[in-house]
Amino acid sequence: MLPFSRVAIIGMGLIGSSLARAIRTAMPTVQLVVSDASPAVRMRVSELGLADDVADGAGTAVIDADLVILCVPVGAMAAVAAEIAPELAPDTVVSDVGSVKENVLKVLSAALPGVHVIPAHPVAGTEKSGPDAGFASLFKGRWCIITPPPRADATMVERLSEFWRRLGSKVDVMDAAHHDRVLAVTSHLPHLIAYSIVGTASDLEEVTKSEVIKYSAGGFRDFTRIAASDPVMWRDVFLGNRDAVLELLGRFTEDLVALQRAIRWGDGDALESLFTRTRAIRRSIVDEGQDTDAADFGRHAPD
Ligand code: NAP
Repeated sequence: MLPFSRVAIIGMGLIGSSLARAIRTAMPTVQLVVSDASPAVRMRVSELGLADDVADGAGTAVIDADLVILCVPVGAMAAVAAEIAPELAPDTVVSDVGSVKENVLKVLSAALPGVHVIPAHPVAGTEKSGPDAGFASLFKGRWCIITPPPRADATMVERLSEFWRRLGSKVDVMDAAHHDRVLAVTSHLPHLIAYSIVGTASDLEEVTKSEVIKYSAGGFRDFTRIAASDPVMWRDVFLGNRDAVLELLGRFTEDLVALQRAIRWGDGDALESLFTRTRAIRRSIVDEGQDTDAADFGRHAPD
């Protein structure tokens, strides 16, 4: 038996369209109704045949759905929740895929009193946006973190967990605040550093832009991939997870100053010891199947 039979997806960008494709593949009998604020996106989703129905508005899309998943930027969650509130059927589960959880849980619970609000975050994505960027296998083998409120209905949490497992994800359940601290380390700070480094490199006056691009294989290009991620989505992530990111940024700044001191005073032992530790972390990520061990970050085998 399927965990949900009629699913509504609001926001058909990278994540929403990947979800639609994954549902089609894993649970083809699920009735899928989708919507997006952008008429161009709605038209493209219809052309691609990603859903049974493409509704003009979020309110219309959620009628009779037993699961609604909001796949919009974190800053747009409140507006979408207000739009769907009057149309939800009793016992509908409202979830989302936002990269920040405490703020989303607060916003959705306030806008949807009496509704089963069970936020989730698939820890999977790319630097691309829009419905053409999505693909069905995005969530396969990746973690989906479910962050129910303290008094959530356990049956509904299990149904949502089963839904994500059927899409190929591994599921963890944790408190929303803890999620935000963990993701600040594994995702939000790395993105902030990438945005900052790419910005710095492009501002350097004594090195030309063409040189930065020409010699980017020295490391820079790997930061540019992360720094190409959607500006609106990431603006909302930093505004939505402000406290955890600022706390971590303080700690990172101290560690950076320690590195600066080690270089200045020629403390090779300190540098080597740090780089040995970080290499071991890379090995654990590959061993856990969260990345491939292919040379050149999986792009090309060496000539
Ligand atoms: P995306 O490709 O930019 O798609 C977002 C879509 O939502 C766009 O089509 C956007 O339309 C639409 N939208 C914005 N406001 C709306 C509203 N009020 N009502 C209906 N539709 C609206 O972004 P994404 O990468 O799929 O990200 C979506 C969510 O997934 C975000 O909350 C993000 O934090 C989370 N997430 C992203 C990743 C990732 O790697 N990208 C990974 C995990 C989770 P417009 O283009 O017209 O604004």
